[in-house]
Amino acid sequence: MADFEKILFKNIDFPDQDKIDIYIKNGGYNALRKALDSMSPESVTEEVIKSGLRGRGGAGFPTGRKWTFLPKDSKRPVYLTVNADESEPGTFKDRELIEKDPHLVIEGTLLAAYAIKCGQAYIYIRGEFAFGARQLNKAIEEARAKGFLGKNILGKGVDIEIIVHRGGGAYICGEETALLTSLEGNQGYPRVKPPFPAISGLYSAPTIINNVETLSNIPYIINKGAEKFSAFGTAKSPGTKIFCLSGHINKPGNYELPMGIPLRELLYEYGGGIKDGRNLKAVIPGGSSVPLLTADKVDVRMDFESLAEAGTMLGSAGVIVIDETVCMVRAAYNLARFYQHESCGQCTPCRQGTYWILAILERIERGRGSLKDLDKLLEICENIEGNTICPLGDAATPSVKSTIHHFRDEYEYHITEQKCKVSMGPRFE
Ligand code: SF4
Repeated sequence: MADFEKILFKNIDFPDQDKIDIYIKNGGYNALRKALDSMSPESVTEEVIKSGLRGRGGAGFPTGRKWTFLPKDSKRPVYLTVNADESEPGTFKDRELIEKDPHLVIEGTLLAAYAIKCGQAYIYIRGEFAFGARQLNKAIEEARAKGFLGKNILGKGVDIEIIVHRGGGAYICGEETALLTSLEGNQGYPRVKPPFPAISGLYSAPTIINNVETLSNIPYIINKGAEKFSAFGTAKSPGTKIFCLSGHINKPGNYELPMGIPLRELLYEYGGGIKDGRNLKAVIPGGSSVPLLTADKVDVRMDFESLAEAGTMLGSAGVIVIDETVCMVRAAYNLARFYQHESCGQCTPCRQGTYWILAILERIERGRGSLKDLDKLLEICENIEGNTICPLGDAATPSVKSTIHHFRDEYEYHITEQKCKVSMGPRFE
């Protein structure tokens, strides 16, 4: 078992951890006190840069460096937006943080707002997370009553407000520019970048968007220092990570572990192995938008670099376990249906491409496909990739491409035998 200190889930199961008195008893808001007492906004940013913390929402961009992209001489207000729209299939880590330890999220948000000199922060929370939104609002009011939030925080002349905004339930609103458009009160359409939000974001003002898990690391970094944080994990992917384990696994759930933990250890030591003693077939390691790994890659390390070398991505660390009973054509079809449904329709390659991917996969599933369909699917994927406004288009293709690449025989069996090779049962009806 890995040797490390928990940063995010240290107190997650502590009774009443969501209440401010317990949070404070467990060391909560000490980092905010320390920052306001003895650190300038620039030195908070410097400490976060030194820690090597990288965004936990999927892209893995260095958090502190992102903050430095804000213009130095802007006459506009600076906004901080917390992305709590967790909608990536297989990902459920932010939800647990928000529901069980909301003050950790609030304290991280306050520290980030202080670092970037922002007086107004927003938490954009997925519409379905009604309980999470209530928890955050309750935490905000408790923090305000204790002087940690609002005007003249802790008597230090710093003003920071936080507003919780519930989204409308669209996957695309997790994309940062769509999130901003939605927050402004419009339909959540993504915008073309550049300009990037740090230059022109919410209401065209400089805006930083950080994920919930990312910000929840900041209190630890300020309390214990960048060096202590970067002692865990790998040199290029420091710290711990919450891995969301789901699918055919004995013990599904969220596991905070150091970055770089071998996938095998995650699945078999923490996850208790594959369900019902069956064999592992594949793993999607970073939420549904990344290419899958076949069972022989189970020794890969779970960090940004190692997974990229293995041809996939850490993404949101939504680890979806697939056992030997799963038909990969059906799995690809299910994911394609999701992306086709969630496409906002703005750009033709995504709108039409996801439609055609779904239609062809359904045809193959029904036993009416032809071998040429496989090339056609790959050609559609190629035409989507890099040709869309936002990453949803690109996110729709890895499941199709990697299942064809690794499990072509299953597709061919569906086409030539008109039934499923895995279940040997009737084809999709
Ligand atoms: Fe909308 Fe898809 Fe284009 Fe993104 S890629 S803007 S979801 S149509």
